[in-house]
Amino acid sequence: MIAPFTYQALPMRVVFGPGVVARLPDEVAALGLTRVLVLCSPEQEDTGRAVAAALGDRAAGVLAEARMHVPVEVATRARELARELGADGCVAVGGGSAVGLGKAIALEHGLPVVAVPTTYAGSEMTPVWGLTEAGEKRTGRDVRVLPVSVVYDPELTLGLPPGMSATSGLNAVAHAVEGLYAPDATPIVSLMAEEGARALVAALPRVVADGADLDARSEAQYGAWLCGAVLAATTMSLHHKLCHTLGGTLDLPHAPTHTVVLPHALAFNQPAAPGAVAALSRALGGAPDPARALWELAGRLGAPRSLRELGMAEADVDRIADLAVANPYANPRPVTRDGVAALLRAAWAGEPPE
Ligand code: NAD
Repeated sequence: MIAPFTYQALPMRVVFGPGVVARLPDEVAALGLTRVLVLCSPEQEDTGRAVAAALGDRAAGVLAEARMHVPVEVATRARELARELGADGCVAVGGGSAVGLGKAIALEHGLPVVAVPTTYAGSEMTPVWGLTEAGEKRTGRDVRVLPVSVVYDPELTLGLPPGMSATSGLNAVAHAVEGLYAPDATPIVSLMAEEGARALVAALPRVVADGADLDARSEAQYGAWLCGAVLAATTMSLHHKLCHTLGGTLDLPHAPTHTVVLPHALAFNQPAAPGAVAALSRALGGAPDPARALWELAGRLGAPRSLRELGMAEADVDRIADLAVANPYANPRPVTRDGVAALLRAAWAGEPPE
C-alpha cells in the first residue's frame, strides 16, 4: 500500500547541459534583472570574472569572498556591497559557499539568486540558509533564499580536483540516503533519491579516473541535482546531524566529513529502514549491504575514511556524542548516546561500518 503523504513542489527553474553557462545572460535578462552582483570564492575569482564579463552591462560587480559556512562578517560585506551597487539580484558561481553567500543576501534584501553550481553539494536546490557567528552556525528555512534559477553546466566542473569530486559526490549521496528514510519521504522524492544515488555512484569512479570526462561529469552533476532536490524536500536525520555537529564544533571540512560518516550512519540505521536499504541496494548495483558498499567505494575513490585523518582527536568522540543526542530529532532507529559514540569511534578509526 502507498503510505499517505504530502508533497510540496518548490518554485524554481533548472537549465542543464554542457555549455549552457553561455545562456546565463539570457536567463538573467528573462528574470528582468539588470544589475547583478556575481559571487564566488577567492579560488574561483577567474571563473566569477569570466561570468561577469559574459553578463556585460548586467553585471554590477564581483565579490570573490565566499567562504565555508558563510561567516557573518562576509555576509554583512556582501549585503552592503549589493546595496551600494544598487544590485537587483545575485549570480552565485561555485559550491555551497558561494550559493550560501547569495542566500545570505537574499535573506536580508530579498534579492533573487541565480546559481551556477560547480560542486555536487546541492545547496542551490534548497531553501536552507546558514550563517556562522563566533563559531556558532545558525541555519533556517526560508523560501526567499531558494535560487530562482539554477544553471548546471558540467563543463564548469571539469576543474574540480579528484579528491574534492569524490567527497562532494558522496556528500550528495548522503542527501539521497537520508531522504529515503526521512519521516516526510514521498514517492516522487524517493525516486529522485534512488536515481540520484545511482547516477553518482556510477559516475564518480569515472570522474576520479579522468576529471575531463564530460560524459561522467554530466552524469555526476545530474545525480547531484537530484540529490539536492531530495535534500530540499525531506527532513535529514542522524547523519546530517552528526556532520553538522562535527563541522560546527570541530571545524572539520564539510564534504570529507560527510564522506567518512555516511557509511557508519547508514549502517546504524539500516536495520530500521528496509525500504531505503532496498532502494540503495538497487542504486548500488545489487549490493546487499549498502553501507559497506559505500565504505568500499570511498576507498576505491581514494577518499578519506577516518575522522582521524581529518584532524579530529579521539578525545572529542564523547563530546560530539553528547552534543548529537542533546536535542531529539527524527531518525528511523532510536538514537542512543552509546550507539552514537560507538558509531563515531568506528568512523574516527576508519574501521568498516558495523
Ligand atoms: P565550497 O563551496 O566551500 O567549495 C570548496 C572549494 O572548492 C572552494 O575553494 C571553491 O572555490 C572550490 N571549487 C568549487 N568548485 C570548483 C571547481 N569546479 N573547480 C575548482 N575548484 C572549485 O564547498 P561545497 O562542499 O560545495 O560547499 C560547502 C558549504 O555549503 C558548507 O558551508 C555547507 O554547509 C554548505 N551547504 C549548504 C547546503 C544548504 O542546503 N544550505 C547544502 C549543502 C552544502
